[in-house]
Amino acid sequence: MLLVMKFGGTSVANAERINNVAGRIKRKYDSGNKVVVVLSAQGDTTDDLIDKAHEINKNPSKREMDMLLATGEQQSVALMCMALEAKKVPCVSLNADQCRIYATSDYSNARIKDINTQRLKNELDAGKVVIVTGFQGINRKGDVVTLGRGGSDTSAVALAAKLKADLCEIYTDVDGVYTGDPRIIKYARKLDEISYDEMLEFASLGAQVLHNRSVELAKKYNVNLVVRSSLSNAEGTIVKEGAKVESMLISGVAVDKNVSRISIIGVDDKPGTAYKLFSELAKKNVSVDIILQSIGRDGKKDISFTIARSDVNDAMSAIESVKSRINYESVDHKENVAKVSIVGAGMATNAGVAALFFEATYSAGVNVNMISTSEIKISILVDEKDADYAANAIHDKFMLQASAIRH
Ligand code: ASP
Ligand code: MG
Repeated sequence: MLLVMKFGGTSVANAERINNVAGRIKRKYDSGNKVVVVLSAQGDTTDDLIDKAHEINKNPSKREMDMLLATGEQQSVALMCMALEAKKVPCVSLNADQCRIYATSDYSNARIKDINTQRLKNELDAGKVVIVTGFQGINRKGDVVTLGRGGSDTSAVALAAKLKADLCEIYTDVDGVYTGDPRIIKYARKLDEISYDEMLEFASLGAQVLHNRSVELAKKYNVNLVVRSSLSNAEGTIVKEGAKVESMLISGVAVDKNVSRISIIGVDDKPGTAYKLFSELAKKNVSVDIILQSIGRDGKKDISFTIARSDVNDAMSAIESVKSRINYESVDHKENVAKVSIVGAGMATNAGVAALFFEATYSAGVNVNMISTSEIKISILVDEKDADYAANAIHDKFMLQASAIRH
């Protein structure tokens, strides 16, 4: 079997954990598998490197930032190889350049375009375990670029897709994908399996288990993906096409606190206003999430939307620059809001989901500021202080009572 095993930062945080992971790799290798390993930087290394950079320059160029951050993963792969050498397992570590992982030029947010696997295959054929740096690629210039925070998952899935691996295992510090973040949702349960689409919604809604691009790739290339713990032998969660989440209506609840709301009061109520506003935001690369527009009155209306907190400054300057074209009266910006969402493929075909959802927020006494829905999710915007409470109420309502309305 050809296996790709990816280990996150906590799984390789110190010498003891590296040795423990090396033992796991050795067992797979000894039982006759070809093994490719993808690693993240150890523990908080990436955050520490970012702090280090900011001590020197508050606004460093993205190119140099990538040059710096990519060193974290390079440390991990070399150390892991040393641990395997000590266990007499033949192995070699490769960085993105040596492994020929080609990516787009967007420093700090590149996408993998292709991988030339010749070297990798040669090393595997020579009987070695190949340890590859996650989170990075090389661009056309030959510069190292990173794939966005959490991007090592994507490196692993891309390698698994390209090598047509039998299985891609994502090892982390939790047992798998839960119905909600166990640090927030008291009665969160581990899922045995989840579909690519639900996982994708989850990942983009702020669940930290998998990088969303990795799920996109897994779906596109039908990669067998499993999320499991590096600290136990528990079964993990299988991510696959058409997975049925037991008999549950939803697969879980997600809370995203990296949200800000902006309201533009009194813009012209005429065609083109939203276009002018949102195209200006797009030019500044600000992604807009939930949008709410009021009914017009006296030729004026209000437009509200949510964005990531880190985009507030860019959004404000975009809004300022369209002022004369959309004629707004004022702008209101609220930072302490959060998005609470439910995700579930079962929602599309079951009536009563929205009623159950809002019954939960009502009995929790939580005020809902904005709502958005898709086929497989409902999201609401609430005050940040209410978010965890609301998420628990919604979670419990669906887990305990939803069977009543499922056909
Ligand atoms: N080390 C990178 C990060 O902390 C990539 C990853 O862990 O996947 O974001
Ligand atoms: Mg991660």
